[in-house]
Amino acid sequence: MRKPFIAGNWKMHTSEAEAEKLIGELKPLVKQLQNVDIAVCPPYVYLHKSVYLTGESNIFVGAQNCYMESKGAFTGEIAPEMLKDIGCKFVILGHSERRHIFGETDEMINLKVKKTLAADLDVILCVGELLEEREAGHTESVVESQLTGGLKDLTGTDMARITIAYEPVWAIGTGKTATPDQAQEVHAFIRKWLAAHKGAAVAEACRIQYGGSVKPENAGELLGQSDIDGALVGGASLKADSFAAIVQAAV
Ligand code: PEP
Repeated sequence: MRKPFIAGNWKMHTSEAEAEKLIGELKPLVKQLQNVDIAVCPPYVYLHKSVYLTGESNIFVGAQNCYMESKGAFTGEIAPEMLKDIGCKFVILGHSERRHIFGETDEMINLKVKKTLAADLDVILCVGELLEEREAGHTESVVESQLTGGLKDLTGTDMARITIAYEPVWAIGTGKTATPDQAQEVHAFIRKWLAAHKGAAVAEACRIQYGGSVKPENAGELLGQSDIDGALVGGASLKADSFAAIVQAAV
């Protein structure tokens, strides 16, 4: 039985005071919820404080990105070792905004995944197709090549620390959610791919989150699908009550 995992991606939002308020409001709302992993991913500059504020609570803190080197002359970049050092638990890699705005390739993402695991952090690896790719009937081939590239060389032991997030790009921040059937179809495809390329045990254990305009109103039906093991939530994670309602739906 896979434990559901709900993570909030705050993207480039909140002030320090707003981050503090959001965590302060969220903690009591999710305190009693068990058998679910809960995480927030604030911007880099608020990570340290967020780790402190979440303290002994049941909320983990993850980062939204990292670089693929441990140190050196890489102005403006952050190493996974630094994220580990301040208490982060995992890193989101390959988010569609990193791919499409910042030009990250599967090769770069794979280097980041390996470096992040080597720094003893877990990974949420995001995959998903553009609207034109879906309309051209290329959803599976796009997702397959992102999985092949992003998970290249990873062993079964590595895979135990990976969560996959299927995020159709056309559903991110647009209010358009994939229907539960559309999402389930791709999740089942991902699990089949994992079984074929990483083994049946990995496929059975690996959590696959859905992301793309998840809100309290649609979370129950999406999370009720057999291959949907959680959610990566953008907009709705910026309000404590809506994020907590999504976590509640997972429970
Ligand atoms: C995301 O950023 O990963 C995301 C799914 O955003 P939203 O929930 O706002 O669509």
